[in-house]
Amino acid sequence: MSAFVYKADPVRGRVWAEVFARQAEPELDFRIWPEIGDPAEVHYLAAWDPPADIRDTFPNLKLLFSSGAGVDQFKFDQLPADLPVVRMVEPGIIKGMVEYVSWAVLSLHRDMPAYQRLQREHSRWMPIQVRPAAKRCIGVLGMGSLGQAVLGQLRSFGFDCAGWSRSRHAVDGVRCFAGAEELGALLSRSELLICLLPLTEATRGFLNAELFAQLPAGASLIHVGRGPQLVEADLTAALASGQLKHAILDVTDPEPLPSSHAFWQHPQIWLTPHIASMTQPETAAEVVLENIRRFEAGEEMVGLVDRGLGY
Ligand code: NAP
Repeated sequence: MSAFVYKADPVRGRVWAEVFARQAEPELDFRIWPEIGDPAEVHYLAAWDPPADIRDTFPNLKLLFSSGAGVDQFKFDQLPADLPVVRMVEPGIIKGMVEYVSWAVLSLHRDMPAYQRLQREHSRWMPIQVRPAAKRCIGVLGMGSLGQAVLGQLRSFGFDCAGWSRSRHAVDGVRCFAGAEELGALLSRSELLICLLPLTEATRGFLNAELFAQLPAGASLIHVGRGPQLVEADLTAALASGQLKHAILDVTDPEPLPSSHAFWQHPQIWLTPHIASMTQPETAAEVVLENIRRFEAGEEMVGLVDRGLGY
């Protein structure tokens, strides 16, 4: 008997159960934490927050899946070194992120924060000249599964798009920058900067004063990566000086953001509660089953994490 344990939101878990019942049982038994049955039968685990003593809990575990796109919630030093970790790359997350970033980019491109302020002043009918999308330069930090999908959609609106990543990518119609030595070139042209980097030791505190200073004056930030990548005081200072015009933040540190936090009231910040995209249980379960099939066939899995890089 081979079993799969799901340890995340139980409501979504019921949808996973239906997919497994249709596509994997009886070969693979689906169980929702804490009803794990015989732990020795558990070969696969999908979790947001795995048990601390994972090898003691599941002595025959072969794979750990993250139930979300990121893996920064995992404590890698506490996981067995030989346990493969797979992050969530599934069409539902990608579609959600493409929608959110499109909304945010179009809102900033068409000056919605300014129109909101004008509306609050009641009587100011003041059109702002519309810039063609082709003359608006957008930069995306992170060209992974989400960054590339976002860039594809933004290209279709006609924006002048560029992306930056650790290794070099080639994406049709997108200027691709790579590595620390090319970061400045990406930043200096990015009027709208989108952060879609994973949280690792290399990206913690990445959105800081030094980075903001390299953007064109009056640029705006859309942050959909992870809260600890942003140095809050540096953002506030850049907004106050005019170096940055506006920020749309979907992620904060901590989450939820305390009600006393200054960001709630900040006129140049729009906040959303980490909803840019969410794992869709139906497609997530299908992707996980396909990865299990690949793993058992000795094929490459989608989203296998490089433990050395942390993503
Ligand atoms: P991914 O496929 O692993 O892509 C990560 C990208 O970032 C890759 O292009 C990678 O470069 C680049 N990168 C990583 N570290 C870097 C560094 N130090 N310098 C330069 N580039 C670096 O990840 P993804 O699926 O696109 O997801 C990205 C992140 O989005 C997730 O980790 C998560 O934090 C966030 N997210 C947020 C939400 C939300 O609702 N707000 C939802 C889902 C995901 P290479 O291509 O060279 O490897």
